[in-house]
Amino acid sequence: MEPLSYYFETYGCQMNFAESSAFKATLKERRWREAETAEDALLVIINTCSVRETAERRIFGRLAHYAALKKKRARQGHPIFVLVCGCMASRLGDALSKHGADFVMKTQEAAIFSRLLAEIEDWTLDKTRPLHERFNDENDYKDFSFAPSHHEAGAFRAFVPIMSGCNNFCAYCIVPYVRGREICRPPAEISAEIKSLASRGVREITLLGQNVNSYAYNDVDFPSLLESIARETEGSPIKRVRFLSSHPKDLSARTIQVMKDHPVFCRHLHLCAQHGSNRVLAAMNRRYTRERFLELVDAVRTAMPEITLSTDILVGFPGETEEDFEQILTLMERARFLYAYMYHYNPREGTAAFDLPGRIAPDVKGARLKLVIDLQMRHTAELLRSRIGETETALVEAVSRKNGRELVCRTERDEMVVAEGEARLIGSFVKIRLEALSGNTLRGRFVE
Ligand code: SF4
Repeated sequence: MEPLSYYFETYGCQMNFAESSAFKATLKERRWREAETAEDALLVIINTCSVRETAERRIFGRLAHYAALKKKRARQGHPIFVLVCGCMASRLGDALSKHGADFVMKTQEAAIFSRLLAEIEDWTLDKTRPLHERFNDENDYKDFSFAPSHHEAGAFRAFVPIMSGCNNFCAYCIVPYVRGREICRPPAEISAEIKSLASRGVREITLLGQNVNSYAYNDVDFPSLLESIARETEGSPIKRVRFLSSHPKDLSARTIQVMKDHPVFCRHLHLCAQHGSNRVLAAMNRRYTRERFLELVDAVRTAMPEITLSTDILVGFPGETEEDFEQILTLMERARFLYAYMYHYNPREGTAAFDLPGRIAPDVKGARLKLVIDLQMRHTAELLRSRIGETETALVEAVSRKNGRELVCRTERDEMVVAEGEARLIGSFVKIRLEALSGNTLRGRFVE
């Protein structure tokens, strides 16, 4: 076992994956090694998700597993420490210690990570003073700050967090309670991180935030930030910029115009609809109507006819009638998303919707969700089939897990294409002719 070795588990959204990359960069700077298995590590870090109860149950399962491993390792005289961070750490705090966490680091406290590592490093040299005694000073908990880099060595795609937290309080969502209110990253920091990514040959970046459209730092709003990113990436290795997630209530005409004016912004937009009924949207506290959502869809498509849209759909919100549900289907028919993340509502303690009357029976929620999924599968297939015969530029991302001779590529419209090719192409842009559809995956052939 390496003296300073870690094992990482990340759950949840891309924000968590970006933060894990930042933690890994810090570990690497401090000469920690990534262990192949937790059995070989001194420190296990679990970056958690609280969005659904099932996600939290899974983490409790992992903690039970590590509690058993800790006992075994203690008997062998090789302790192992477990650090829990992310949203579940923010929500449950020290209560996680009862489940075997040695350290609990809330999302707002990520700045203490280096300090924690330093203490563990010291402890490996002098074990007379237990770790928990070294690390119980409340003053250590600084305010939230963004890590300087979220880049993993060699990666050609990177996430760049531009904000954290959310002010919206959608009735079903735990995020504002666990991640806190919106904090926007200074534009100069964002720009420095993007420049550093470009200097390391990164080809595609994704700007991240719970609601990127409400970005505001002094007089810099989201479209101004996009404009400066477009200027700064001109002529750099970064050829594609994406952003997630877009709240319809904050998507402005200026943002659409900036996307249209600068081809570096991918022709794909993830715009979270959640529902198609005005009554349910109001109960969810989404603060837009079905009509406004569809107006935005039209505005985006008028500006960029080739753009694809994706979305989130939540069925079975308390009080959802058959008529409400039908309106999800008609909204989907009208908007025609390339893909969607589709869920049925599950009560989440601590959110406004938890106490709402009119919970929908599980079999009804399940049946409605199935109808939504079937419709989306049909739309996905139709949209992808309509692309057959066209030639596209795609970024080669990986070797296919199903067939080692095939590569998985992504177009700027966020379509996945599989084609035969050599692994040396990973990380480069290729021209690809779209030839067939297999299930919901396009198959293609490299040209040139
Ligand atoms: S916009 Fe709504 S759903 Fe999205 S993170 Fe904020 S509260 Fe949650």
